[in-house]
Amino acid sequence: MQNLLHNLNDEQLAAVTLPAQSALILAGAGSGKTRVLTTRIAWLIQTGQVSPSGILAVTFTNKAAKEMMTRLSAMMPINTRGMWIGTFHGLCNRLLRTHYRDAALPQTFQILDSQDQLSAIKRLLKANNVDDEKFPPKEVMYFINGAKDQGLRADKIEPYNADERKKVELYQMYDDQCQREGVVDFAELLLRTYELLSRNQPLRQHYQQRFQHILVDEFQDTNDLQYKWLKLLAGHGEGGGGALFAVGDDDQSIYAFRGANVGNMIAFEREFHVKNLIKLEQNYRSHGHILDAANVLIANNSKRLGKNLRTDAGHGEQVRVYEATSDLGEAQWIIEETKNLIADGASRSEIAVLYRSNAQSRVIEHALFSAGIPYHVYGGLRYFQRAEVKHLISYLQLMDNPHNDSAFMRVVNFPTRGIGARTIENLQGASSQYGVSLYAAVPYMTGKGGTSLAGFVKLIESARFESQQMALPELVRLVLEASGLLTHYQTEKEGADRIENLEQMVSAATQFVAEEGYGHGAPAHLGPQSQAQAGAAIVNQDGVEILDADAPLATVMSPLSAFLSHASLEAGDNQATAGQQAVQMMTVHSAKGLEFNNVFITGLEEGLFPHESSSREEGGVEEERRLMYVAITRARQRLYLCFAQTRMLHGQTRYNMKSRFFDELPEDALKWLSAKSQPHWFANKKTAWDEAPMLGSDNAIAQKMQQKSSGWRIGESVEHAKFGEGVIVNIEGSGANARAQINFGSAGMKVLDLSIAKLERL
Ligand code: ATP
Ligand code: MG
Repeated sequence: MQNLLHNLNDEQLAAVTLPAQSALILAGAGSGKTRVLTTRIAWLIQTGQVSPSGILAVTFTNKAAKEMMTRLSAMMPINTRGMWIGTFHGLCNRLLRTHYRDAALPQTFQILDSQDQLSAIKRLLKANNVDDEKFPPKEVMYFINGAKDQGLRADKIEPYNADERKKVELYQMYDDQCQREGVVDFAELLLRTYELLSRNQPLRQHYQQRFQHILVDEFQDTNDLQYKWLKLLAGHGEGGGGALFAVGDDDQSIYAFRGANVGNMIAFEREFHVKNLIKLEQNYRSHGHILDAANVLIANNSKRLGKNLRTDAGHGEQVRVYEATSDLGEAQWIIEETKNLIADGASRSEIAVLYRSNAQSRVIEHALFSAGIPYHVYGGLRYFQRAEVKHLISYLQLMDNPHNDSAFMRVVNFPTRGIGARTIENLQGASSQYGVSLYAAVPYMTGKGGTSLAGFVKLIESARFESQQMALPELVRLVLEASGLLTHYQTEKEGADRIENLEQMVSAATQFVAEEGYGHGAPAHLGPQSQAQAGAAIVNQDGVEILDADAPLATVMSPLSAFLSHASLEAGDNQATAGQQAVQMMTVHSAKGLEFNNVFITGLEEGLFPHESSSREEGGVEEERRLMYVAITRARQRLYLCFAQTRMLHGQTRYNMKSRFFDELPEDALKWLSAKSQPHWFANKKTAWDEAPMLGSDNAIAQKMQQKSSGWRIGESVEHAKFGEGVIVNIEGSGANARAQINFGSAGMKVLDLSIAKLERL
């Protein structure tokens, strides 16, 4: 035990060893929150206060859950497999598998990742002739998920206008469709579990008693429904249940756009009468200058719960800042600094390049590639989301649950087997008419189309029959061949990579059965043993049979079902996996909770970071600032900030001002590598505009000509109907492409197309 606790400071120790009551650990980045949470679990078990099965720990990603289990097994000799450590989605999946009947789901229900969900919605809109310009599928999806995240079913929403009424109607139809197909989306996993537990008192009580300690990491990013879910399990308002131990950092709340509600921290403190509020202010991650930068920046936010960070690590190096003329120059600088770092002995996996949006990565990738520096980009398509892998998964899904229409649609004619659009339309018609899945509608089809469809059904059925006794990896191999996917990609010119990805599924399956504790060679289809057979059934005082949740996953899910839900849940994770011998590239969002010795934050420009969408939303800039805070605090030893005067993004050249965050960072902590400049269009301020304007002298003449041709001059005062009076500070391009950068004072800096904007000379 000494072992467990001797590496903690006083506040951490106090937090780890709190009595079994609700507690909130509110602490800044790198102060050891995750470490405290993990150590507390170990301490509770080791001191005999709880058995491993009495713990419920919620992490933000599957990867974080795995890491926590690894750390726990390193701390003490326990089998972590039976422990309930996972994401909200993972834990709900487990509960729903165990209690599928009570949750009114088929035993083999499947999980739709967001891609599948979108295609399911598109299908729904099409089948009901809904105008998808008026109701774009993505918008309908956000509407549905937003409602579910608040715990609202369609019949609980009061529409405020006709459009919303339609969306509510679509929401209901979508839910019916999912129910018919036996599929659930991510938000549904949570809502369904929440409803199950609210409705079913014996079940609720069982889990309330079982989970004596509920621990939640990254609590600031829980949404309304997740908080309700936690309250339910912790027996809030019902005279008790487990103790809820929440750790979080209000300054790192970065998922408001997904419904996260930082107010949950305040609500938690109030509703649970939290007496144990501990702040951790010692930072163990970053050097002083980096931490100063983070502290001073975040102090600009108004809505904060209040805390600071200090470090004993010394100032370390200053934060290096570079202004590039273009995005290409920015990438080049990153390469140079990366080479220096590597030459100094830095490991590539300890170098992270962060950006606000994925579109920024291409140029940097290209530069790294040309320089021969291995890199890894996260947040692109994940393995389980690649087209060929999705195809294979769809076949597997159909073998487990043929009523999954998304899977059916994806592969019914892939590889092509002569089933045309017309046939599919007729099949969809029959499916709506009889209220059954596409698969079940096949027997209603006649003619040539009917015959081809029947052939497809036969393919699935016979693969299923043939694989009765097969282990999961063998089954995957069988499907790979029987589906025709392998042959299809063999004949494709660029198919080699895809075949390799498909082959990897066999290895993934092998690894999965071993990790999840399914006996080697256990038949993939092995139905879950009945509760009695599993020997784990317990009957509570009301005579309700409840499967003890300690039962290994193998008793509630067949290897195939388990593997498929693993694939869907993995596809939903958006966090990077550090550790590879490559430079790590990712968005700031996916870097949450991670740390690296060296961090670059790129594209620090107005409109990019803070993102332009933030100015439209209330509190938007504060959320961007928290995001910047998360980015800065990922760095241990060295931090690099950069921005570019011009940038090509989405096919357009943009001229950006440097990010406002630079004005909010402490001067002392920064080291400007390029001359600390005014916004670049003031770069030649001393020079009269008509002598040598803008962008360096090399193109001054060209510039001058452009000014003439556009008829406008830098320095000229103008008036715009919407933005008011302003001064032209730069002109780029010529003729129809001429654009001016105009400072409109309180309305801000704008770039306007001179051929379109209606400007008046003043
Ligand atoms: P974030 O807010 O980014 O999630 P966090 O508060 O969860 O950060 P951790 O990741 O738990 O912080 O810890 C940050 C780093 O500090 C880790 O490398 C951790 O091992 C180290 N650390 C935490 N506490 C101590 C301590 N008492 N002594 C030495 N190192 C520590
Ligand atoms: Mg953490």
